[in-house]
Parts: sequence; structure tokens; C-alpha cells
Amino acid sequence: MSKPRRPAAGPVSHGPGPGARPGDGRAAFSAANSNTRILGPRSFVLPTPAARQAADAGAAPANLGLNSERQRHAMVQRLRAQGITDERVLAAMMAVPRHVFVDQGLASRAYDDAALPIGYGQTISQPWVVAHMIEAMVRGRTPQKVLEIGAGCGYQAAVLAQFIPVVHAVERVRGLYELASKHLKSLALPGRVHLSYGDGMAGLARHAPFEGIVVAAAGVKIPEVLFDQLAVGARLIAPEGSTHQRLMLIERTGPESWQRTELESVRFVPLRPGTQA
Ligand code: SAH
Repeated sequence: MSKPRRPAAGPVSHGPGPGARPGDGRAAFSAANSNTRILGPRSFVLPTPAARQAADAGAAPANLGLNSERQRHAMVQRLRAQGITDERVLAAMMAVPRHVFVDQGLASRAYDDAALPIGYGQTISQPWVVAHMIEAMVRGRTPQKVLEIGAGCGYQAAVLAQFIPVVHAVERVRGLYELASKHLKSLALPGRVHLSYGDGMAGLARHAPFEGIVVAAAGVKIPEVLFDQLAVGARLIAPEGSTHQRLMLIERTGPESWQRTELESVRFVPLRPGTQA
């Protein structure tokens, strides 16, 4: 019997979408309010180069540094309340200083449960989305080597590297690839992050198979080539769609079989082909 190349339709579990009950801990992550919300220029004012220099010289980050552990602790408590239960993921979220990954002008908002602009029209993902995607990818297993597509400023790669020994991360915008390299080099991470500049829609065949793949940008369809780069038994988690996006979980159940599960409504920046110099 010939096996489907595409993941077969699997059980569909609808998570909170636009109609989620108010008061449901996760309702806040419906489409209207979800991570990777694309924020308009009026939402935030990025600092001028002079202000950035002053901040880099120490003033703002030093103040935040004193508080950041407490803020991260509060963030982790919030993640628990929002349904994240995997202690590896919670510990990783506690360990990574998210304020290092955002522009210093936004550092005071670094631990809000919000996506924030990182330049080039892109965003750092909302903490809940980062934790939720990683939790879904690693549930019941400990991957040794994973792939992240859409590294952005490098935050999620740093979280992954807290308990996954080898993390490959791909970014298509050169400026962000450089920013992520700078951020990741500034931290002592338990695992190794191999960052590449390129089009993640092709995956990273030379390092495949991966024991998990996480995609941080939404394609109208998830690129099928990624399914082949999953190890048998491994999971890929990715948003899919354009106006209406859903988080999809794809599990490779055999050499030629995949199971597809639909999770909640989300809003991510688009997955784009090619690279941007
Ligand atoms: N993982 C990031 C999220 C960054 S936003 C975090 O930790 O916050 C998603 C990123 O995906 C953007 O930086 C965007 O440039 C990138 N992206 C979009 N299409 C891509 C592609 N085909 N290959 C690699 N990166 C891509």
C-alpha cells in the first residue's frame, strides 16, 4: 500500500481561537492577542542611535539587570498559570535573560507576555508561544538535535539550548542573523547553537534528521521538505495559514507516515522565501 507523502489528517484538537472563553487562562492567546502579533510602528518607538549608545553604556540595562531575575520568576509563574507544565521548559525560560534579546529601549517590557519588535519588520516571540511550542515538540522525549527556522534575534534558540545539546537555527534576514549571533555569543549556553544565514524553507538537509523542528514564521503551507528532515518519532511544530493561522503539530510516525494535529489560532510573521541581505 502506498504511503502518503503528506502527513495524513490526524485528530484535530482545537485550542482556544478567537472564540475562546474569557477567563480561560489561555484565551488571551487567541488570534487577536497572540504572540508574534505584528505590531504597528505606533505601538513602540525604537530609541535613537544616541539613546541606544547610552543604554549600551550601562544605564538602563544595569537597572533592569537587578530586577530581571525577579521579573523572569514572575514570567515563569505566569507560564505555569497559562498551562505550561514541562519543568525543563520552565527552567529554560527562567534561565534565559530575555531583556538581552530586545532593543534596550524596550528592555522594561522584556518580560511582558507580548511579542516585541526586533527591527526588519520582525518580532521576538511572546514567551507563552515560545514555551508552548517547545513543550509540544519535546513532550515525552529529550531531543538531542533540533532545528529552528526563523531565529530572529536568537531568543528561542537560547531557550532550546538550555536543555537540548545541539540546536541548529536558520534566519533569512542577514541583519537579524548577525544580531542573533551577537546575542547568543554573549551568553554561556549549556547546549551549542549553530546559526545559519539562509532560507529555512529548504530546511537544513546536511544536518538532518532532526529530533524536533520548530518554525517561528507562518507559511500558507508548511514546506513539505521539512517533513522528510524529521527523525521517525520526532515532531515539528509550525504555524500555518495567512489571514487565519493555526499552530500545527506534525509527528513522523514511520518512515513514510506523518500525523497532523491542529492546535490553536495564532498570529506569526510570514515565512518568506529566499534571503534578505
Ligand atoms: N524565533 C524568534 C522569532 C523571530 S520572528 C524568537 O525567538 O523570538 C520569525 C523570524 O522568521 C523572522 O526573523 C523572519 O525573518 C524569519 N523567517 C521568515 N521566513 C524565513 C525563512 N524562509 N527562513 C529563515 N527565517 C525566516
